[in-house]
Amino acid sequence: LIQLYIPLNFMGTVYREIKQATLDIAQMFSLIGRDPEIQDKPGALPLAVPAGEVAFEDVHFAYVPERPILRGVSFKVLPGQTIAIVGPSGAGKSTISRLLFRFYEPQAGRILIDGQPIADVQQVSLRAAIGMVPQDTVLFNDTIEYNILYGRPEASMEEVAEAARLAQIDRFIRTLPEGYATSVGERGLKLSGGEKQRVAIARTILKGPPVLVLDEATSALDSFTEKEIQDALDRVSEGRTTLVIAHRLSTVVNADEIIVLDRGQIVERGHHRDLLAADGVYAAMWNRQREVDEAKATLQRATEAE
Ligand code: ATP
Repeated sequence: LIQLYIPLNFMGTVYREIKQATLDIAQMFSLIGRDPEIQDKPGALPLAVPAGEVAFEDVHFAYVPERPILRGVSFKVLPGQTIAIVGPSGAGKSTISRLLFRFYEPQAGRILIDGQPIADVQQVSLRAAIGMVPQDTVLFNDTIEYNILYGRPEASMEEVAEAARLAQIDRFIRTLPEGYATSVGERGLKLSGGEKQRVAIARTILKGPPVLVLDEATSALDSFTEKEIQDALDRVSEGRTTLVIAHRLSTVVNADEIIVLDRGQIVERGHHRDLLAADGVYAAMWNRQREVDEAKATLQRATEAE
């Protein structure tokens, strides 16, 4: 029997590894691939993140030479602060997060974390220092516990539950017949987009990275779910340097700085009230968004009244 057990056990490990690789690949694709040429420099040291300052210095980038995407982008996020990146579709917002992960290399300029150019450090240490809450979360076809634990596999069950509580998903989990042992995904419970995102937030809280990238969902959420997710995101970004690719007014209003990106350049920057007063691109975006939100609210009230 033992002769049968060993290969079966081995197959279990292989299955687990394939499953992990599948998720990592899926997440990588959610950032639209990467340049496989990027290697650690010989003798690269691990990134040290005592504070968590992120800086882009005159960054120029193009996926293909004839089409520049970022054209001289400079900004600094101080430790623990939140910067919101806004701008029209295709402006280059997600490209900024891909460059921060070093999935691509800028053609000019530098990106630094706590003064260390990310091009000079070990990629493994760079990715360990950054947490990502993507727009569309991919969960493992496994239990909720496994999905949260992936953030830090050595964490205790108490820590998993605490992360779920901070991510505002614990109450929902406790209503499930098998609680944390409930299977999700293909062969298990189907979670809504908002629930999946909160599981991803719990995973990130457990990972505890000093730098965080949040890619807000563009898809419409009902206002209750939006509030719950916003609260969860506020918790996870507390005390961490955070870059938000922002689509929601509630996020931008509270950001320490908003940068408005248009065709690869920062066209406006500042706090919400200063940008409104400036009455430029941001103010126009804000007013348009507010009209859309008001129209949606009126429509929802009308539907509810029927
Ligand atoms: P959205 O709000 O729609 O997500 P964005 O501001 O995040 O847009 P990016 O995803 O950064 O925009 O893309 C900027 C531009 O770069 C787009 O025009 C896009 O088509 C192009 N682009 C993105 N990824 C690649 C790629 N791998 N190869 C070539 N072009 C790309």
